[in-house]
Amino acid sequence: MPKTLKTEQYRYFCTVERPLHNQLDRASLVAKLDQESGERTTLSLYRYAQVANPPFLRDHLFAVWQPIGVLGRIYVSSEGINAQLSLPTHQLDAFKSSCEDIDWMNNIRLNIAIEGAPKSFLKLIVKVRDKIVADGLDDDTFDVTDCGRHVSAKEFNELAKQEETVVVDMRNHYESEVGHFKGAILPAAETFRDEIREVEDLLADQKDQNIVLYCTGGIRCEKASAYLKHKGFPNVHQLEGGIIEYVRQVRSEGLPNRFKGVNFVFDERMAERVTEEVVSKCHQCGEASDDLTNCANAACNVLMVQCRSCAEKMSHTCSDGCLTFIALPQDEQKEKRSGQRSKRRTLKQPSEARKADD
Ligand SMILES: [Zn+2]
Ligand SMILES: [Zn+2]
Repeated sequence: MPKTLKTEQYRYFCTVERPLHNQLDRASLVAKLDQESGERTTLSLYRYAQVANPPFLRDHLFAVWQPIGVLGRIYVSSEGINAQLSLPTHQLDAFKSSCEDIDWMNNIRLNIAIEGAPKSFLKLIVKVRDKIVADGLDDDTFDVTDCGRHVSAKEFNELAKQEETVVVDMRNHYESEVGHFKGAILPAAETFRDEIREVEDLLADQKDQNIVLYCTGGIRCEKASAYLKHKGFPNVHQLEGGIIEYVRQVRSEGLPNRFKGVNFVFDERMAERVTEEVVSKCHQCGEASDDLTNCANAACNVLMVQCRSCAEKMSHTCSDGCLTFIALPQDEQKEKRSGQRSKRRTLKQPSEARKADD
């Protein structure tokens, strides 16, 4: 038993007898959410820490968070926790105190979503993973706690204005496509794993310059900045709390906003709007659009930007093939689909990194 749990919580955990997994189907989950009165808060949190017993932590969090209505996707591992979730707003204090009960989660920053959305998550999933973010890095070769210097929104703005500063988007291409910081380098990678190597190569000639990394909530930059420092980049910075915290600070402190477009999020909302500017184009007709969607053919499901008129014309599919496919009778679709799930995650992956407009 980790010493980090208070005794009464441990007792509670041991006596709990309900199943520690979601047991409802999608329709019941939606109906349950529809019946709920009152507001929900969507938030994310993460922390790198040495966790002695991840399966125990997993069961504990499920037992404590499920009764207060937490929904979302929580990953725990021996290197920490990474969670995206929603909860009834009136349970926020109970939630915070459940975090304080675990010593290494004390004072953890809760990244409250920019736009509220009652249905950002439908169920609570808590999983044990090898890593809290799949980064493909061999952690034994470098010190992950020796990360870049954290900068606030104000410091970020000051640094980003300087000509010699290199601002790098550490998210995947489909995230940076629909929203990003002015003048940032937008890598072409489709996974964080590939992105780290791509960025290392891209910055090879700018090793000594001020480098500022950013991502959605800050977690990816913790690892990426430590890796770059380990690779001999001396001036690595990272945006504290990522885009979410940046937008919050910009709004509360009345600072100039250097972020344009929408912030991609990994829940049912797909994106939250930061500014009205549309920085991307429909993948089908090329008109300005930042409407993100998955192909309506479940066997394809590729992620794409699709404007409203193309969505209508193509019945929310990505191609003529998928349009024809979804018109087939259900049983014929099922037969053809077996073992045919698309390997592509996105409709369009850029061939190389680009630089965002200033
Ligand atoms: Zn279009
Ligand atoms: Zn498709």
